[in-house]
Amino acid sequence: MIEGGRVAVVTGGGRGIGREIALRLAREGADVAISYRKAEAAAEAAAEAVREAGVRCELFRGDVAAPGDVDDLFKGVNEAFGRLDILVNNAGVTRDNLMMRMKEDEFDEVLRTNLKGTYLCTRAALRPMVRARWGRIVNISSVVGLVGNAGQANYAASKAGIIGFTKSVAREVAQRGITANVVAPGYVETELTGSLPEKVKDQIKAQVPSGRFGEAGEVAEVVAFLVGEGAGYVTGQTVAVDGGMTMQ
Ligand code: NDP
Repeated sequence: MIEGGRVAVVTGGGRGIGREIALRLAREGADVAISYRKAEAAAEAAAEAVREAGVRCELFRGDVAAPGDVDDLFKGVNEAFGRLDILVNNAGVTRDNLMMRMKEDEFDEVLRTNLKGTYLCTRAALRPMVRARWGRIVNISSVVGLVGNAGQANYAASKAGIIGFTKSVAREVAQRGITANVVAPGYVETELTGSLPEKVKDQIKAQVPSGRFGEAGEVAEVVAFLVGEGAGYVTGQTVAVDGGMTMQ
């Protein structure tokens, strides 16, 4: 349960898993700020769907890894809503390649968006949370950050980095009423995984005890629990939503 009047920022909330998270938090009664980078029409549609839940929703365009854009996002949220209670660092990219072929820009772009973006947004969000002595941060990692994946060394490094980052932040702010946790999805049906060849999808499903891909709503369900009023004693944890793939 989320107390009425809480304000959530969901980065990359215009489509995919982020959109489902934004909708889920809206249905719990939170006002939502959605950040997106390029897909404007999708973000507008997501905002409309969020508003249909009867809450306020504002859209902010920008790159989570650009300090100026992140400043604008959090200033904009403060101007629009006057508070910030929940941050979900969901924006993420992949640039897959085998290690021996991986180009420096493929490595840099993934680390920059997934890890630096999470750092910049977390730093900006902590200020109002510390002042309010209440906050919930959920960072979206991946099972790939737990067990690795051939062709995704850059992505795995960024997602494993998010786990260490989150544990450190959780320790720093635990006594101020703020929790920080990680949700690590397995393979979820979105545009990110939609481009995989059917053969690869079948190989993946064969490794999942549940025998299927996850749904974005199933990830959102766990995020909703972690940002709720009742989860105040859960911090620094990584919850895999992966159909039993990793069972850590
Ligand atoms: P999508 O590719 O469907 O969506 C990615 C979202 O991130 C988009 O909203 C995109 O904005 C946004 N984004 C990307 N780069 C930036 C940036 N630099 N600044 C701001 N926003 C940005 O991905 P998914 O929904 O599948 O993934 C969401 C998260 O879940 C990611 O962190 C991903 O790594 C993680 N994940 C996904 C899994 C899956 O199977 N799908 C499995 C495990 C983890 P825009 O639309 O404007 O481009």
